[in-house]
Amino acid sequence: MNTSVSCRNVGKIWARGTPRAHEALRGVDLEVEDGEFVVLLGPSGCGKSTLLYLVAGLEEATSGEMTSFGEPITDPGPDRSLIFQETSLFPWLSVWQNVTFGLSLGSMSDKDRKQVATEVLTKVGLRAALDKRPHELSGGMRQRVAVARALAMHPKVLLMDEPFAALDVQTRAKMQDFLLDVWRDAKASVLFVTHHIDEAVALADRVVVFTSRPGTIKEIVPIDLPRPRDPFAPAAQELRKHLTAILSEEVDKAFTEQEALA
Ligand code: ADP
Ligand code: MG
Repeated sequence: MNTSVSCRNVGKIWARGTPRAHEALRGVDLEVEDGEFVVLLGPSGCGKSTLLYLVAGLEEATSGEMTSFGEPITDPGPDRSLIFQETSLFPWLSVWQNVTFGLSLGSMSDKDRKQVATEVLTKVGLRAALDKRPHELSGGMRQRVAVARALAMHPKVLLMDEPFAALDVQTRAKMQDFLLDVWRDAKASVLFVTHHIDEAVALADRVVVFTSRPGTIKEIVPIDLPRPRDPFAPAAQELRKHLTAILSEEVDKAFTEQEALA
């Protein structure tokens, strides 16, 4: 098996060397296999987003080694696409222009861009929205455009930071099914951040549970449930129970720490 992302003993101290120095991550060891779906779960402020920024190459680790397909991660690259909770679509561009914005920075013609956009928007079920503007779409549709934009770059790793957190429960469930289809089709690895245990069990091959800050890996829980998954299967309930128990210890700790700071 190929390793898509490898973190060895990774630490991150924000504003290191200043009075505001703030340790977000410590000693993180994680190997993500090519094509694997890994969910990062942990209390608010434990460094989940920080880890995604490091993998995306947007921020530099303070210590440790990070590689993607064997190459050290030093910069952002088209092989690693980051999708945020709130989509950052350009309101003045049409859907197809948004989707292929990254390609417009190269030398691709408008005609070729529109063809790529049509292909990826078909994959996310939004072909009909090609010429619409972002404000004409629902929240779920906008997140699908964001996924299409990531897919247009043919990433090998999709980094998703609570991408469905702002959506209502029904839309979120639909988006999870949709994402699993996209993932199967794209054969990319996914690193997906959430603080929802249900979401973790619905999606993951493995769930990486973090401690409260500084985030260290507390436990890696394999989710060996057949797909499509039945959320009511006894094994799924057991896994949710286990994850709830280990997570709530950390949430309590994070809470106590925040109260001490207040
Ligand atoms: P999570 O995504 O798990 O909620 P974050 O990775 O956003 O956590 O944050 C981890 C810790 O690092 C928090 O204490 C947060 O305040 C701090 N942090 C995040 N981003 C920055 C930054 N750009 N500068 C300084 N501190 C930051
Ligand atoms: Mg976050």
